[in-house]
Amino acid sequence: MAAQALPLLRWSRSASSLCVRSSPAASRRLFPALRRPAAARCEAGSKVLLKEMDYPELEEKGFRPGQAMMLWKCLYGNNVWAHSHDELAGLNKDFRKMITDHANLKALTVKDILAASDGTRKILFSLEDGPVIETVIIPCDRSRTTICVSSQVGCAMNCQFCFTGRMGLRKHLSTAEIVEQAVFARRLFSDEFGSITNVVFMGMGEPLHNIDNVLKAAAIMVDEQGLHFSPRKVTVSTSGLVPQLKRFLHESKCALAVSLNATTDEVRNWIMPINRNMDDAKRLIELVQGIPCKINLISFNPHSGSQFKPTPDEKIIEFRNVLAQAGLVAFVRLSRGDDQMAACGQLGEPGEYQLPLLRVPEKFQVAL
Ligand code: SF4
Repeated sequence: MAAQALPLLRWSRSASSLCVRSSPAASRRLFPALRRPAAARCEAGSKVLLKEMDYPELEEKGFRPGQAMMLWKCLYGNNVWAHSHDELAGLNKDFRKMITDHANLKALTVKDILAASDGTRKILFSLEDGPVIETVIIPCDRSRTTICVSSQVGCAMNCQFCFTGRMGLRKHLSTAEIVEQAVFARRLFSDEFGSITNVVFMGMGEPLHNIDNVLKAAAIMVDEQGLHFSPRKVTVSTSGLVPQLKRFLHESKCALAVSLNATTDEVRNWIMPINRNMDDAKRLIELVQGIPCKINLISFNPHSGSQFKPTPDEKIIEFRNVLAQAGLVAFVRLSRGDDQMAACGQLGEPGEYQLPLLRVPEKFQVAL
């Protein structure tokens, strides 16, 4: 879900060594291939993909609590972020062999890493079955670095300002493929940027369209014994899938952002940043009356084939000032990484087949 164009509303709710004996029976108990869900299987083989499981599931698979916790910490904590069986330090030799024989630790392969002039990095990951997804690392200062994760290959929402939307929906990402983006960010960039502190689900895809896997991935990310992101610093952004939005608020401790893009249904139905006058600011003030929130203003980031242009800086400032004068907390967010197509709304590679551009409503044609 690329946070794009007009305002993005965001609110937070107040939001030892192991002793195990390997045997065929134990192996089946630990890695019950016969009863594992299809999504937990590695496409390339018959091994279990450990990152498909949250901690209760890992324990349920037959690990004793101590075993499960040590494995969990190797996968997600203690600055290990294990990707190979050699990195499972401290685990009992037999237990490690069992994992080597029956499980995989890694869900993605790095295809390329692009560096933008402002320090932003875009990582291209290959999935097991071929498609490529993109993840963005946005360093701000030593105390805050944000990772922007993808939740789908492409997207079904066809927002008119978004490059990803041109792709159409190719695939939902699995829990492991989502979590692995955060694991890779920590492995690759913790030394250079310091702690990776924030996660935003604003990469490729509408996260709430893939809500089961996103809820589980977010829960794994905030687990205190693992990646341990603060739930307040994990933000899922949606274009506004209302039933899923309610479910998310009910089931997750993480923050939610709604990408508005416009303040009337008429404009929103066609979704465009028609921020030519201050009427939107005034409607926005009315819309959020009584809602504890902050508003992020993000300009359009251009891409080939788009009919939109970025809003001039002075217009964005003017918009922000109208909101501020009404007592709202509003920030102008700088675009990061746009020289490497790593900014909001620029991820993906649509290819030959693209979703159609929507007809421009007559009254807005003069605005283009
Ligand atoms: S098309 Fe999908 S990824 Fe792009 S802004 Fe819309 S919901 Fe987000």
